[in-house]
Amino acid sequence: MDEIVVGLDIGGTTVKIGFLTKDGEILKKWEIPTNKKNHGKFIVEEILGSVLKNLPSLNFDQQNIFSIVAGAPGFVDKKSGVIYEAVNIGWKNYDLAAQLKALSNVPVFIENDANLAALGENWKGAGNGVRNMIAVTLGTGVGGGIVVNGEILSGVNGTGGEIGHIIVENNGAPCNCGRIGCLETIVSATGMVRQAVELIAENPSSCLSQLYSKNGEVSTKDVFNLAGQGDQLSQQIIDRSTSTLGSVLADLSIIVNPSIIIVGGGLSQAGESFINAIADSYRKRAMPRVSEVCSIKVAELGNDAALIGAARVSNEFEKTL
Ligand SMILES: [Zn+2]
Repeated sequence: MDEIVVGLDIGGTTVKIGFLTKDGEILKKWEIPTNKKNHGKFIVEEILGSVLKNLPSLNFDQQNIFSIVAGAPGFVDKKSGVIYEAVNIGWKNYDLAAQLKALSNVPVFIENDANLAALGENWKGAGNGVRNMIAVTLGTGVGGGIVVNGEILSGVNGTGGEIGHIIVENNGAPCNCGRIGCLETIVSATGMVRQAVELIAENPSSCLSQLYSKNGEVSTKDVFNLAGQGDQLSQQIIDRSTSTLGSVLADLSIIVNPSIIIVGGGLSQAGESFINAIADSYRKRAMPRVSEVCSIKVAELGNDAALIGAARVSNEFEKTL
């Protein structure tokens, strides 16, 4: 009988669901909206309902499910399967593994979403199967996943590798984690827009300011477009973001000594010059012995990375059987 892995990538807006072979090939994938009502109480039930509904389309039934592997945002304790806090879903001390198990009766594994994406990229994407790697995901926030000696770094309670919460500014902006000046407050989409809004207030006659008055808002796309047209203020935002990230990656590399650093997420699609600027900042700052063995690459698997990472987690479990 064919056995499949059900991969879940649970986000604040949608839940990505995939049926995968144990080799990490996606047989079918789709999305359902994340139901945030009642602090996310209905999410698991709706996921499993959708899984059961979609099994027959590939001539599968529940017996074909070998395991369920879920990626969730926030601080995740993979040993217990508890999500400490996922702010944009509403879960707090939520026992996701137990909920999934109660309804499914197969082995269930929970991992932080950025870690799962890093494992996917490491296995089938830009990571090339290397044993030491840093992955950083630049989206609304900044996700991080660090592979050391072939294994994802989780730490004592699932906080290891949370690159987005490294403090880079003593008097910076408030972060979702409750502290001030984290990397995420600068290099994420949210962080870049915040920088733009601050600069607009200081430079009322700038191009950015004019665009803001016209549209009532400003996006990272606007910042990249204006910078492409030679706008200095927009370029300043990009320069600050790329140099900050490059410098954090250089510092992290002293600990991890990776052979590949992968930059993924929405902002990684901003173009070659954005990635090159991160790499330049990295090389300027990193110890030469560290940077000469490390290449910086753009993620290759896009939104599928976490689903593919799910199959890898399942494989690792199977090896222990
Ligand atoms: Zn933070």
